[in-house]
Amino acid sequence: MRIGALEAGGTKMVCAIGDESGRIYEQKSIPTVKPEETLPQLLDFFRDKDIEALGIACFGPVDLDENSKTYGYITDTPKEAWVYTDIAGYFSRGLGVPVAFDTDVNGSLLGEVTYGQAKGIGDAVYYTIGTGVGAGVMSSGNLVHGAQHPEVGHMLLRVREDDPLPDGICPYHKGCLEGMTCGPAIEKRWGKKAIELKDDPRVWDLEAYYLAQAMVTTTVMLSPKMIILGGGVMHQEQLFQLIREKTAALLNDYLKNDHVRDMNCYIVPASLHDDQGIMGCLKLGFDAAS
Ligand code: ADP
Ligand code: ZN
Repeated sequence: MRIGALEAGGTKMVCAIGDESGRIYEQKSIPTVKPEETLPQLLDFFRDKDIEALGIACFGPVDLDENSKTYGYITDTPKEAWVYTDIAGYFSRGLGVPVAFDTDVNGSLLGEVTYGQAKGIGDAVYYTIGTGVGAGVMSSGNLVHGAQHPEVGHMLLRVREDDPLPDGICPYHKGCLEGMTCGPAIEKRWGKKAIELKDDPRVWDLEAYYLAQAMVTTTVMLSPKMIILGGGVMHQEQLFQLIREKTAALLNDYLKNDHVRDMNCYIVPASLHDDQGIMGCLKLGFDAAS
């Protein structure tokens, strides 16, 4: 089946045509400017491509409640031009095919559990640590939405005394996960871009100190079988071992299940070379058409 995929990000929009096997036939990326400019360009890409459905994984917050008047909208986002933009409706009207809509992180998670190393695992969490921090959650095979959708980037952390940026950068909360660990927080704390700090162990020890707390909270709340960490900051591969060690130390042997005991298989990098999001959209689209 020919399926359209749209990974709608705050800085760029990735659109692709592919099929349910995860194969991508063509792909294009355009900058996220404002809806009047960006949406017609995307519609032009999908038009006349003979797609049977479209899957959209979108930056948020978004409205996922199918009974809501604003279902399929980006809601009160800090990206002002996009506040209350009807994304799903725009493409549904413009293309006349079924459109599936979910969060960007649920899209990436769906990509990993359908086509990646988490294939077949129905209880998994996908984190992105990038410009912001967020996570998609799957429980017993279902993507979790809840009242709105999880906003795990804003879980509160225990702040380390020697942190030079003890409040973090979230405008809403002091010491929340996103405010302490996202790429811009690293840059503000240490005065250089995260990528330029590769050789400074203090940076990654503190980063892992916070991310390990998120791993513990995720583990005790959701009992996943795998936690996948993606996003630009996680390109620092040395973080994985640090996070695993600190997570195990914090859990302190409290949990005995096989997944948590095998940290190397429990906390893992994304496996689809940054295509997990767009591939997840193929699966979203396929499910909408089936
Ligand atoms: P976005 O979250 O905007 O979709 P990314 O996941 O690429 O995009 O995250 C961008 C953030 O990740 C930036 O803050 C950047 O500094 C950081 N980043 C990108 N590449 C690296 C890297 N190799 N090492 C550390 N940080 C990185
Ligand atoms: Zn916050």
